[in-house]
Amino acid sequence: MRFAAWVLIAAAGLAPCAFAQTLPELGGTGDLALSPQLERRVGESIVRDIRFRDPAYLDDPEIADYLASLGARLAQGNPAARQDLEFFAMRDHTVNAFALPGGFIGVHTGLINTAETESELASVLAHEIGHVSQRHIARMLAQQQQLQMPMMVALAAAILLGRSRPDLAAGAAAAAQGAGIQSALAYSRDFEREADRVGLQTLQDAGFDSRAMAAFFEKMQRATRVSDDGTLPGYLRTHPVTSERIADVQNKAAAMPYKQHPDTPEFQFVKAKLRAEAGDARDAAASFQAALREHRYASEAAAHYGFASALLRAGRVKEAERELERLQSFAIASPMVETLAARIEAAAGDVAGANRIYAEAQKRYPYSRAIAYAYIASLQEASANDAALAALRDTLKLYPKDPRLYGMQAKTYAALGKRLLQHHSQGEAYALEGSLPAAIEQLQLARSSGDGDFYQLSMVDARLKELRAQYAMETKDAKR
Ligand SMILES: [Zn+2]
Repeated sequence: MRFAAWVLIAAAGLAPCAFAQTLPELGGTGDLALSPQLERRVGESIVRDIRFRDPAYLDDPEIADYLASLGARLAQGNPAARQDLEFFAMRDHTVNAFALPGGFIGVHTGLINTAETESELASVLAHEIGHVSQRHIARMLAQQQQLQMPMMVALAAAILLGRSRPDLAAGAAAAAQGAGIQSALAYSRDFEREADRVGLQTLQDAGFDSRAMAAFFEKMQRATRVSDDGTLPGYLRTHPVTSERIADVQNKAAAMPYKQHPDTPEFQFVKAKLRAEAGDARDAAASFQAALREHRYASEAAAHYGFASALLRAGRVKEAERELERLQSFAIASPMVETLAARIEAAAGDVAGANRIYAEAQKRYPYSRAIAYAYIASLQEASANDAALAALRDTLKLYPKDPRLYGMQAKTYAALGKRLLQHHSQGEAYALEGSLPAAIEQLQLARSSGDGDFYQLSMVDARLKELRAQYAMETKDAKR
């Protein structure tokens, strides 16, 4: 019943707290129907689906790097969030974030845009981490085993579509009621309160300003009052902010020692990048230019960063170079400044210069995937395939489960005419993306490529055997 479980959880996950009202107590998480391992696999399959099918999925390694580092800082404040947290961004103007099974947390760009401080953004993520660490989704599922699959398919699809379309979400709610799923889209106050409480403590323990949570809730409540067209910011639909909830969070935060949290430069750079990449490039450039002229910015360096990015996007490379120099005069150490500098250098026609910037940057920020991806792609472009392979080997040591790196490795081997290695790498990429049949096909192609040595061939054989066994097990599971 793998598929049924998938869909059920997809529906529950995107409407956190949906089925919680009949929960007897919030204490133990003992006898749950869903093991953490299965929950993780279910989450992986939903994320894969979003990544490949949802056009709103934002494939921006710099924003992903930023969310990962913010999430890692928050996880230090919540020891119970033991599962690997993974964050991804969705291009969606509504103010929202959502937790999927297995520790995957989606973050709308609207949330990043609306948060005025990093602590405000962190407070919403901390709340979602609270849902994860308290295993709310697994607890909801433990209550709802009688749901029929076709209903759940429809509901999940409607909720996925309706994430930023209240009209569609309302349709899903009606359909859910028609099928007898009472309160499927209503939210348990107990779970919300628990996620607030745990989230607030997380925020405090991780060194953020715990008052930011109430401040952000109030901001959203005010936004609701002024919108007369009846549409609610996304987060309010899935997380109704009541005055009681705000007061609760406010009181708890007041009892905590105040910590001032200086925003990281990346918080403002990410916000500027989103603005620089939205809409028409010339309009974006003009808007940053005006902001700089009138001194309207939260961070002057970020305004220069945004202006340079928009100029680069508009193809005005000379001006982008000048703006980059202004940004660099702030001497802010950030991987995002390095990649921007390299991109501008490449756009100016100096690919070797760009590669030198990336190589230096990779030494300073070895864990930055954004730098690694950009550097490797740039080496590939320059046909520096051996250097690309060396950089891939180093990065794969840090991120051995990253399918994108294996895909880049396959591309590099292809450029070198090494067919066995190309198909082997491509197979690993597919396997990590969860497409076992495609992975097996690649390994078969590797075996019949005719250009490997004995050692490489036996590696391929062993891996093929493993993948086939894994696939046989999963198809057996699915039939059960
Ligand atoms: Zn919530």
